[in-house]
Amino acid sequence: MRKPFVAANWKMNLLAAQLPDYFQVLRSELTAQANVWQQVDVAFAAPYLLLPTAHQCCGGDFLVTAQNVHQEPSGAYTGEIAIGMLKEAGVMSSLVGHSERRQYFSETDEIVAAKTKACLQAGMLPIVCIGETRHERESRATQDVLAKQLKAVLPVVSVEQKIVFAYEPVWAIGTGLTATDEQAQEAHAFIRGVVQDELGKEFASSLRILYGGSAKPENFSGLLAQADIDGGLVGGASLKPKDFAAMILQAAQGAL
Ligand code: PEP
Repeated sequence: MRKPFVAANWKMNLLAAQLPDYFQVLRSELTAQANVWQQVDVAFAAPYLLLPTAHQCCGGDFLVTAQNVHQEPSGAYTGEIAIGMLKEAGVMSSLVGHSERRQYFSETDEIVAAKTKACLQAGMLPIVCIGETRHERESRATQDVLAKQLKAVLPVVSVEQKIVFAYEPVWAIGTGLTATDEQAQEAHAFIRGVVQDELGKEFASSLRILYGGSAKPENFSGLLAQADIDGGLVGGASLKPKDFAAMILQAAQGAL
């Protein structure tokens, strides 16, 4: 059985000064269920400057992840952050290829593959985001888009490495629109199938694939109940520690 994985994506929100309160509320909600930390992997994708404080607040209980990395180890890349700098700050994971990076910062499939490769080589867990736009879904190109995005990345992955994928339909991110349970399951099963074709059944069946796109406490348990959905990447709802705690508890409940 795959252990559920629930990741917050705070995007460019919150201040370091707000984090102690955030985690106090979150932890007090989570004590409702004993051993929740053993049942679910929980991660927080924080803006760079918040990472050290987030790391401190998480202790060993939760994973802290960056929202982006640069693919080169060092050099003349003004404004960028290298993987070695993240590791020095205790950060061992990063989102890669979030649709906002693809859309607003022109990240191509090739760049996403290079970032994924750099993370894997550095022993850092990449959480690679893929998903179709509204136009692509409406023109029935969802599977072609997912296959293209996956086929750019999978050649840099080998079966002994750890990676997580997030299926994030772009039309559902921050819009209040969520994929139905059936739409999400269909996409997740397709993704697992492509991964199986490229990297084999054992790797594909242990791969965690998260759903992202306006997930919230009201719709999360239906998504989690789907066979190929192993957790969530949560934007807006993760800014409210009570809501995010409720989603972690739902994932823990499903894992029992
Ligand atoms: C995200 O940013 O990855 C995301 C899924 O955002 P939201 O939950 O707000 O749609």
